[in-house]
This record gives sequence, structure tokens and C-alpha cells, in this order.
Amino acid sequence: MLEVDLLITNINIASMVYPDYNLENHSDKEDTYGAIYHASVAVTAGKITAILTDNQPLIKAKKTIDGAGGWLTPGLIDCHNHLIWGGNRAREFESRLQGVSYAEISKQGGGIASTVKATREASDSQLKALAEQRLSRLMAEGVTSIEIKSGYGLSLAHEQRLLTIARELADENPIHVKTSLLAAHALPPEFANNQAYIDEICQNIIPHIAKLGLADAVDVFCEGIGFSVAQCEQVFQCAKAHNLPVKGHVEQLSDLKGSLLVAKYQGLSADHIEYLQAVDVPQLKAADTVAVLLPGAFYALQERQLPPIAALRKHRVPMAVATDLNPGTSPQASLRLAMNQACILFGLTPEESLKGVTCGAAQALGMQASKGQIKVGYDADLVLWDIEHPCELSYGVNLVQPSRVFYLGEQR
Ligand SMILES: [Zn+2]
Repeated sequence: MLEVDLLITNINIASMVYPDYNLENHSDKEDTYGAIYHASVAVTAGKITAILTDNQPLIKAKKTIDGAGGWLTPGLIDCHNHLIWGGNRAREFESRLQGVSYAEISKQGGGIASTVKATREASDSQLKALAEQRLSRLMAEGVTSIEIKSGYGLSLAHEQRLLTIARELADENPIHVKTSLLAAHALPPEFANNQAYIDEICQNIIPHIAKLGLADAVDVFCEGIGFSVAQCEQVFQCAKAHNLPVKGHVEQLSDLKGSLLVAKYQGLSADHIEYLQAVDVPQLKAADTVAVLLPGAFYALQERQLPPIAALRKHRVPMAVATDLNPGTSPQASLRLAMNQACILFGLTPEESLKGVTCGAAQALGMQASKGQIKVGYDADLVLWDIEHPCELSYGVNLVQPSRVFYLGEQR
């Protein structure tokens, strides 16, 4: 008889695995969630070792959990998150609601500059404590993997500090962490122009961070108020020279064709993409680049331009959904809310939304071979929900919380 560490019985499984398996969207065809009914899942050494459809499986387990007829999903993955920052921009929000323009707020030292200043001034332990609070909110709602970006340090010393804190958070919490170096987020105050800072990123920051192994990817903010396509390409070339995959904040506020640059470098993901033109979508598909949708920023900025969802579906580009948690444009520490927003604001189906935070998000972080699906051999990052159907996970806001969360087979 097979002996396993953990057996979860009496469950329905939203495996997010499809018969003709790929990460593409097929909302036009089916609404299946890769469901397996009346099943059990066996776990050994942190991996899924068996999926059984017999409710009384002949397996000896060190521990057995009765799922009470609930649904088991892969652990949720937040693939775009600016978790670590100091300061507080709630007063800026209040001012904006009273009619003060963003330009005026920036002139008074607000906006991203205020977050950079507050982040630089905060101690390591202060930053870590703030990030831990945000992390715990996400973990409580079933998030088992997260991407953490730097980007509020904007100097070698401070970017290194933020990425080091991200690695410490990974060591001290059960959640799995992927880090992204986002030095090309904004112009730091000590640089007179963008090009001089891009040169610093390429000559100093990326080589140093790469040598320390602190970043799993390199990210950029390609926008009129960020960096140009040519400057982002310089960053990507440098990242490539240091064997780091790339991704980008692109087409959020205008169509600069940053997505095509990401595709040219076989980037992991093109993020935001509200202004991406349908005609450019096939290039994402050809590059295996994931379209990361960030409805929280769209909501907070009260944007009107919708991402080209129909073209993404038509060309079968994998979609992911993430929080974009940050103090300025998406102050929401809830991936479950982002799932709901993706349906209501962008018209995703609940199944696409769940794919977006499981298999789609896993691919956006380059983890599709081990996470984001319930499949033999995959990591046992699992969430048990007391729900009648997986569409409930996208339907409401704070109506449903996980019954149990497992990180590599361990319940915390
Ligand atoms: Zn972002």
C-alpha cells in the first residue's frame, strides 16, 4: 500500500489542467476549471503524488484531512506586486478627491517621489514590518506565491536593500517569492535626466544585483512619464547579458509599443496593456509572453481604456491577473478583489479570472512547470474552500475565505 504524508479526501478539485493542456484561454469553448469530482489528493515531501477519484482510496497517510465536499484549488499566485514601501499616501488620495491635481501634488513633493523619500528614510525593520502586514493579508486569502518588485529605492544601495528584504521575507514566511529588479521605475532626485540614470542602471545596478543573485527578473516602466522604449531596450540588453528574464509595465497610459519590445526579448510578461492594440497581440503569443491584467490600477485611476481582451482570447495569449499592490495607483492588498475586478471591469469569465491567478500567473513568473495547477509532480500549494462552485471565488468581495491553505503540503 502506498504511504503518503498527507491525504486530503472528500473534495472536488479545480485542477486548472485541461485535456489539450496549454495555458491558453478557451472561455469560448468550456467552463470546466479542469474539474475532478469526488476526489482525493495525496502529498509527499511537498509534492502532489496522486490524484484519486475513489473516495476511500487505499492509501496509508500520516495525516488525513476530510475536505467535507469542498473545492481544492491551486494556491493563488500574485504575479505583479510592489510590496515593499515606506510612508503613506492616504492624505494624497484625500487631496485628489478634493480636487488637487496630481501635478500640484507632485510639486508639493507628493506622488512617487514621496514614497521614494519615505522608503529611503525607513529602517530595514520598519520596511519589513510594513511588508509583512501586507503579505499576511494576501496569505490569509489563499496566496501561496508572490512576486515582489523593488523600485522605490532607485539607487544601487537602496534597490539592493529592498531586494534583500524580499529574500528575507521569503526565508521567514511559508509563501514562495520571486523578486524583480525595477530600478527603471522613476527618475531618482539625484539624477538630472533619464538617460544618465539608465546608464547607471546598466553599468552599475544590474551587474551588481545580478552578481548577488538578488533578482529573478528585470522590470521597467515604459511610459511617457517613465522611460522610453529605447531606454527600456538598453535595460533589457543588459538584463539579457546577465541571464535575467525581463518583463515590463507597458501600454498603461499610452501606446508606445513597449509590449512589442517585451516580446522581442521573449519577456515573461507584458503588464497593464490597456492601450495595447489588437493588431500587436499576435506578437505576444509568438513570444510566449503572458498578458498580465491589473484591474486594481485601472479602478483606482478611474481609467476608461480597456485592455484588448477579445484579441487576447482570439490569439490565445495566456492572461494573468494580479494586484499591482502599490501606494499610489493600486493600494489594494487583495488578489481576490482583483479577480472580481477582472470580471466586472474587464469582462473576464470567473474561470479566466481563476486561471489568471493560478496557471497564468505561474507562467508569468516562469513557474508553470511546478506551480499553478493540481497535477501529479507539482508543488502541493493548495487551498481548500467551502464553496459549491469555483465561480464563487470571483463572484463576491470578502464573502469567502479559505478553509485551509497548504504551502508545499504544510498547513500554516
Ligand atoms: Zn506595477
